[in-house]
Amino acid sequence: MKQLVDGDRLWSSLMEMGQVGREGDGVNRLALNDANKQGRELFTGWLRDEGLEVRVDRIGNIFGVREGADQGEPPVVVGSHLDTVSEAGVFDGALGVLSGLEIVRLLNQEDVETRRGVAVAAFTNEEGARFQPDMMGSMVFTGQLDVETAWAASDDDGVTVKDELQRIGYLGKDEFNAGHYLELHVEQGPVLHSEGLEVGVVEGVQGMAWWDGEYKGEANHAGTTPLHLRRDALLAAADLCCRLREKAEELGHGSVVTMGRLHPKPDIRNVVPGGAFFTVDFRQYERALYEVGQKQVVKLIEETSERHGLERHLVQTVDAKPVRFDRGMVELVERKTKELGLSYKVMHSGAGHDAQFMSHVCPTAMIFVPSIGGRSHCPEERTLKADCVNGANVLLRCVLELSSGV
Ligand SMILES: [Zn+2]
Repeated sequence: MKQLVDGDRLWSSLMEMGQVGREGDGVNRLALNDANKQGRELFTGWLRDEGLEVRVDRIGNIFGVREGADQGEPPVVVGSHLDTVSEAGVFDGALGVLSGLEIVRLLNQEDVETRRGVAVAAFTNEEGARFQPDMMGSMVFTGQLDVETAWAASDDDGVTVKDELQRIGYLGKDEFNAGHYLELHVEQGPVLHSEGLEVGVVEGVQGMAWWDGEYKGEANHAGTTPLHLRRDALLAAADLCCRLREKAEELGHGSVVTMGRLHPKPDIRNVVPGGAFFTVDFRQYERALYEVGQKQVVKLIEETSERHGLERHLVQTVDAKPVRFDRGMVELVERKTKELGLSYKVMHSGAGHDAQFMSHVCPTAMIFVPSIGGRSHCPEERTLKADCVNGANVLLRCVLELSSGV
């Protein structure tokens, strides 16, 4: 058979999906909203046009299944997500789902019978922009989150996931099993584009730790309180912010740390801030360094409060360990990338993806293609058509090898 996807067909499906939920320059298909429903209908319509059986599970994940000759083997699954952040681009998520669709269209067109089945997946609420946690669909699917907890999650208006699944007609009860999982995704970072490379062979996802912290000192008059008598919580938090950066540089090996939120209390211009709420986000790919880094972050938060004579309150809210994908799957992606003569690098993902949870239940790997300027989660998110097609071709070749059992 022809071992290349139809690039025009893939691109036109991507552009058509990119019109669903369009608001001005951006796309808004927040999980389970009306536009997300419309995107699901478009996708499942395409699956049915190809004669696939559409299954929807209890958290609304969609699986389009093309049976293989050996029905006893769970299918090779290709997928990603169709929900977006608000004011999103066209490629994040949709590229992985619609490349899977393109592969199925090609298999049908060429009348190929595979040994294992091939399935295309669209996971529910990957982004976590409306309901938390993010990657909800793949967490439930892989048993990392129970469905009752996921159903009970509510948005800012108090509407629950279960209500919305019911309303849009995607509260399913179908079962599904995955044999292998592959996800093509835009990089959402600047590495491939800046290095002029065509493909990222993704070997894992970096670990991520989050804390909510608060420093408590004493609010006081900004004019009458001498500097040496102050217990300024904002000053301590600002000090912490700088020290965290130094610590991450010292730790190196790609460590990144971010204080993304900082709220002084009482937040008045002529009052010494008696309180400061802050968040810390720390990420690292190497397992040992991830653990060391976490300890250092906590130590720094404690030392800084002591140096400034403050009380503190600290809670760790996320501890997602680094994930390493199956060696054989990563090697398969690398081999197929080479076979196509594409330039590439082996890299890890800085962002979370459904693949990190799928890797708990079956051999998994990811393929990245360049994001122009590294932009993502914004209307300026762009990936060249040629890069999308390259990624889909790598994906196709991996699927052919895995599904035929060669
Ligand atoms: Zn995504």
